Amino acid sequence: MDTIPNSPAARDIAYFFHPVTNARRHEQVGPRIIERGKGIYVYDDQGREYIEALAGLWSVAIGFGEPRLAKAAAAQMEKLPYYHSFSHKSHMPGIELSERLVKMAPVKMSKVFYTNSGSEANDTAVKLVWYYNNAIGRPNKKKIISRIKAYHGITIGAGSLTGLPLNHRDFDLPIANILHTCCPHYYRFGRDGESEEDFATRMAQDLEDLILREGPDTVAAFIGEPLMGAGGVIVPPKTYWEKIQKVCRKYDLLIIADEVINGFGRTGKTFACETFGIKPDMMVLSKAITSSYQPLAAVLFTDQIYQAVADNTNKIGAFGHGFTASAHPVVLAVAMENLNIIEERKLIQNAAAMAPVLQDGLRKLSAHPLVGEVRGLGLIAAVELVADKATKRPFDPIGKVGNWVFERAHDHGLIVRAIGDSIAFCPPLIIDAAQIGEMISRFRKTLDDAQAWIR
Ligand code: PLP
Repeated sequence: MDTIPNSPAARDIAYFFHPVTNARRHEQVGPRIIERGKGIYVYDDQGREYIEALAGLWSVAIGFGEPRLAKAAAAQMEKLPYYHSFSHKSHMPGIELSERLVKMAPVKMSKVFYTNSGSEANDTAVKLVWYYNNAIGRPNKKKIISRIKAYHGITIGAGSLTGLPLNHRDFDLPIANILHTCCPHYYRFGRDGESEEDFATRMAQDLEDLILREGPDTVAAFIGEPLMGAGGVIVPPKTYWEKIQKVCRKYDLLIIADEVINGFGRTGKTFACETFGIKPDMMVLSKAITSSYQPLAAVLFTDQIYQAVADNTNKIGAFGHGFTASAHPVVLAVAMENLNIIEERKLIQNAAAMAPVLQDGLRKLSAHPLVGEVRGLGLIAAVELVADKATKRPFDPIGKVGNWVFERAHDHGLIVRAIGDSIAFCPPLIIDAAQIGEMISRFRKTLDDAQAWIR
C-alpha cells in the first residue's frame, strides 16, 4: 500500500496487529479508519458515511453516539472509578444490575457473575459446569457438547466450544472434553424430501447418539446460541429446541443458552430463549447489554447450581475464579443506562415491528441470480450467495465472492459481514423502515456489481 510515511495508516500497519484479519493483506490494503458514529451510521476519516448493518459486531443496539451513556460513565468515574467485588466487597452498580438481570431473565435464575467478554463468560460457564459436577460428586460428568458452526468466542475454553475451523486451526483447539454435534441448518444439511420437523428430529437423534457413544455419565452440558449468529445466522428448524431439550433432560445435561448476540431484543423478544421456548440452566449475555459502549458479559445461573457451588466454596475456602475488572462499576453503570434507553425507547418492540420490514425486504432478493437462501428472524438475517441456485452449489472457493461483496459494499456506503458466502445483517435496534429500505437498496447495488464481476 502506498502510504504516506508516518500517516495514521502507516502507523497502523507498523504497530497494530488486528484481530480476525489477514495480516499480509492488511500490509497491502491498510486500515479503514472509522472516526465517529451517529445512530445507524459510522463515518471514516475521509468523511464517508456507512450504514452499520452489523451494529459493529452484532452489538450496538441503541446506535452510535448516545450521549447519555457517556454521561453515565463520567458520573460513575467521578464517584467511584473502580472497585472490585472479591472478598465480600460490593458497590451499587453491581447490586442494581444483578437484581435487574435476574428479574428480566425468562426463567428463574439465582445469581449473576460478570466478565469482560463473551469468551470469558463462556469459559466461566464451562468452569461452573465442572465445578458444579465436582461439588455434587460427579467428577466424571464433564464433557460439554456444542455444535459445528457454533460461535462462543476465542479463549481456550470458549474457542473450543466454537465450531468453526478458522478458530481452531493452528491454535491446537479444541481442548479435550469438548464435543460438537451437527449444525441445524436445514437449507444446507436437510435431505431431499425431509421436512423441517423431521430434520429437527434427526438433529436431536444425532445428539442422543453422541451422548450414548460417549457415555451419558461423562456428558455434563449442552451449549447453544438459540439462533446461531457468527456461524452464518442459522435459524433453528421448527421443533428443534423442544427436541434438543428433551434429550438434554433425559441424560441430565445442563443447558447453557448463549444469548450474547440474541439477548436484549434481537429476535423481537427480550431473550431468544422466549422466542424458542428454551429453559436454560445458565444464560450468557453480552454485547447489547452495554451496546458495546463498554466491554461486559454476564453469566446467570439457577439456584440448583448456586446451592451446590456455594456449598463447595464453603468447603474449600472461596470460589477461586474472578477477574480484576469483573463487575467494573463504570461498565455496569453504562449497562444500566443502556437498558434504561432500550426500555424507554421501546427498542425491543421496535425490533419486533421492523422484523417483517427487514425479513420481507431481504426475501425480495431471493429472485436475484446469486441468492441461494435468505434466512433470519427479528432483526438478524443472512443472504447466502451460491454458484447455482437450483443445486445450491457453493462458489469455489467458498468465501471469495462473499469477501468481494463485503469489500464492495463499502463503496455503496454499507458495512456488512461476510461469513463464507453468507452476508449477515444485524442492524442497530433503533433502525426504522426507511433506513432498512436504504440498507437493502445499497446491498442490491452491491449484488448487481458482484454479478457483473462474476459473469
Ligand atoms: N458468544 C457468542 C454467541 C458470540 O457471538 C460471541 C462474539 O461474537 C461470543 C460469545 C464471544 O464474545 P467476545 O467476542 O466478547 O469474547
